[in-house]
Amino acid sequence: MNIASILHEKGHDVFTIKLPKTLLDICATLREHRIGAILIVDDAGKVAGILSERDIVRRIATDGPDALKADASDCMTSSVVTCGPEETIQAAMARMSEGRFRHIPVVENGDLVGMVSIGDLVKRRIADAEREAEDLKNYLYAS
Ligand code: AMP
Repeated sequence: MNIASILHEKGHDVFTIKLPKTLLDICATLREHRIGAILIVDDAGKVAGILSERDIVRRIATDGPDALKADASDCMTSSVVTCGPEETIQAAMARMSEGRFRHIPVVENGDLVGMVSIGDLVKRRIADAEREAEDLKNYLYAS
């Protein structure tokens, strides 16, 4: 199973924003879309950074409530790790676990084609494991 099969199910929509934005703006966007991380894109639509709930919490822990006035560009992660649609779910999960992040944008030929979270990947792994167990049971009872 690959990342494309997850996008086929959940869709290719990706929420993005352009700078300048404050952290308070980002909080409002995360809340509006009920997501945990947002991709920041440049005028050409290319990925320029990612900003997650964790970045916001870290900044508040350091600066207190004033953190919400900070520029998103000062809090985002600029070196964004991406994956391709043909990548296996296991490989993407390994990359996320190694980098300790829970979101990964999907890029194909330089274009953003989706976004998956660790929740999407775990959900699919559980569904696959359940289906395999069911197939095995059916095979055993049939023989
Ligand atoms: P998360 O676990 O996704 O909330 O993110 C934890 C940290 O990793 C935050 O500092 C994010 O900005 C950063 N991060 C999230 N996703 C990625 C990614 N795909 N590539 C690089 N950094 C990321």
